Amino acid sequence: MKEIILIKNGELALKGLNRNTFEDILVKNMKKKLSDLGSFAFTKGQSTIMVDPVDNDIDLDDAVERLSKVFGIAALSRACVCEKDFAVIKKTAAEYLEEQLEDAKTFKVEAKRSDKKFPLKSPEICRETGGYILSKFHNLRVDVHNPDIIVTVEVRDKYAFVRGNNIKGAGGMPTGTSGRAGILISGGIDSPVAAYMMAKRGIELCAVHFASPPYTSELAEMKVMELLKKVAKYSGVITTYVVPFTQIQEAIRDLCPEEYFTIIMRRIMMMISEKIALNQNCSALITGESVGQVASQTIYALACTDCAVNIPVFRPCIGMDKEEIIAISRKIDTFETSIQPYEDCCTVFTPKHPKTRPHIDDVLKAEKSIENLEALMADAINNAKKVIIR
Ligand code: ATP
Ligand code: MG
Repeated sequence: MKEIILIKNGELALKGLNRNTFEDILVKNMKKKLSDLGSFAFTKGQSTIMVDPVDNDIDLDDAVERLSKVFGIAALSRACVCEKDFAVIKKTAAEYLEEQLEDAKTFKVEAKRSDKKFPLKSPEICRETGGYILSKFHNLRVDVHNPDIIVTVEVRDKYAFVRGNNIKGAGGMPTGTSGRAGILISGGIDSPVAAYMMAKRGIELCAVHFASPPYTSELAEMKVMELLKKVAKYSGVITTYVVPFTQIQEAIRDLCPEEYFTIIMRRIMMMISEKIALNQNCSALITGESVGQVASQTIYALACTDCAVNIPVFRPCIGMDKEEIIAISRKIDTFETSIQPYEDCCTVFTPKHPKTRPHIDDVLKAEKSIENLEALMADAINNAKKVIIR
């Protein structure tokens, strides 16, 4: 039996004149995702895209698994292609979906008939196919409201397709349709979730990670790379910069009042990230901050970090509880990696009593104590290590 994958694009349908461009980007992203699996042909139709394996030995389970992580897809399904002869169609439905139909208790048949010349109308296709399936599977009864399995028969120009239940797609917008942004990535739970959430809106990612050896270890850095690889399954390639942060953190420790350590460190992280992001054609930054989570995430502290840069800072986790963030991190499979206990530079030299209501004038005054800050930042950027994550 010849199988294909049918893709239903989601929000794309709303995009009016841009729709074609958006669909082209979606197809490009799907091609990239499948490129090392074999050769596929892509055909665009009305709100569906057909992915047709050209080689015979392609692993379609793997293809479906990969495509289920491509943003811009609302639903997808494997479908069997058959001749436009009703006797063949109903027989194919029963044979192709045999295992699923044997396991189900209830089913219904839906028909889509874009070839209006096909002799049977949709209600007849449903009735006849349903009757045939009932005669073959005595475990089944029809339930039109909440069936275990929906058997769909589509009659198109050249062929008919038969398929079972849809698989939920990753939703969102195709990566690359909403510009680029730089994610400040730590090894924690929140920032990979923030990266995923903005990528879901079509944003292409570049990443910045600050490392402070010897206070932070090689293993901590490897953990961040592992997290980014998991995010990249959804977002596609992430150009990543690992910025050496030790000298700057030591300067903060030696020169600034202790209560401002964290807030100044966060501001400098933002300033360096902004420079790298602009260089990478990004127009915004992303962080995993959430109001009230720690002292540096009160609205007063966030106001002080925000004004360190001149590009927008997106914080998609801002109003979420930790539980809600964890639910997403489990869904995208980053949670187990995130909870591995390696230190982050944010936990180096943490003050005993950080200011929770810092005033920007005091912060700026404290920050000025680091006279050679510009040079230190330039140095850190020059010595950053570039890693391409795919
Ligand atoms: P996360 O789980 O994302 O680490 P967190 O609760 O640990 O969040 P913080 O450590 O205060 O919170 O960090 C807040 C945000 O700052 C992170 O979500 C991330 O965007 C950024 N950040 C923290 N540490 C680093 C780092 N070493 N490199 C780059 N960005 C960082
Ligand atoms: Mg953290």
